[in-house]
Amino acid sequence: MAYYAGVDLGATNVRAIVAEADGTAIGVSRRSTPRGPTGIHVTEGVLRTLREACGDAGIDPKGITAAGIGSIGPFDLAEGAVIDPANLPDSIDRIPLTGPVSKLIGSDDVYLHNDTIAGVIGERFHADRNPDDMVYITISSGIGAGVCCDGEIMHGWDGNAGEVGHCVVDPRGRLTCGCGREGHWEAYCSGNAIPDYVRLLAEDDPTITTELPLEGPDFTAKDVFDLAGEDELADYAIEQLAHWNAIGVTNVIHSFAPIVVSFGGAVALHNEELVVDPVRERVAEMVMTNVPEIRVTDLGDDVVVEGALASALTDGTGDRRRLRG
Ligand SMILES: [Zn+2]
Repeated sequence: MAYYAGVDLGATNVRAIVAEADGTAIGVSRRSTPRGPTGIHVTEGVLRTLREACGDAGIDPKGITAAGIGSIGPFDLAEGAVIDPANLPDSIDRIPLTGPVSKLIGSDDVYLHNDTIAGVIGERFHADRNPDDMVYITISSGIGAGVCCDGEIMHGWDGNAGEVGHCVVDPRGRLTCGCGREGHWEAYCSGNAIPDYVRLLAEDDPTITTELPLEGPDFTAKDVFDLAGEDELADYAIEQLAHWNAIGVTNVIHSFAPIVVSFGGAVALHNEELVVDPVRERVAEMVMTNVPEIRVTDLGDDVVVEGALASALTDGTGDRRRLRG
């Protein structure tokens, strides 16, 4: 019997799943991501989680034929390691992944992807039509895309394709992105950016009334969405977010001609009516080529770990015609 594994290494949690060759899950595990002190401790947390998923499945890790890893970046792909991850303590400079996982399972078939590329692999694998052209866009603490074009998962130099959150949507550059540059899509619309953006909108037009705790230390994007339909500033902000999101998504569609655009990430998953539906309406008017289906992933929070598993099952492609079992 051949078994396959998927691992999701996020800044908050590590998840692992073990499955049979047709993708049927037989073991899962989830732990908090170790906060260091070094990258090796994070590697050990990944290995522990994967061993636990194997234990849950009642198999030896050496029984796994191939594993996929969807991870926070950035990567040194040649070394199969994460380098200087943004959302973990500074003492974590290097997290070896491919080598240690390969050693644990006794197989060289280990596929390492950033989380959005794992996302598109999972969405392709689980989509009705197994599409050759599709995009997965995450809107969470940041914004990024995984792209499948002409049946090929796009990786780019060092695996950095799809950093669409750093495309300029506002040439006036009124907000500075976490990357240090101005006017980027995620500087306006990511979960981390929305509070700053709403404060900017309030400064622009002090006549807009609001109950939002703009200057409170705990003001988050969730507060804005929670007051939808009840607060003038919240509603205005949600409309402005739709404006920038529609520009970003339209740019992605014109670049890659997907037949399906699938959204994931906490901001999109928890606010489909307020975030995704307005994009769908606007994009239909803005795209001059074929208008793709725009949907939200059915996999929810599991989209990355399921994508990592789908990668292991299909030689890194998410193409069901290439199922190895
Ligand atoms: Zn940026």
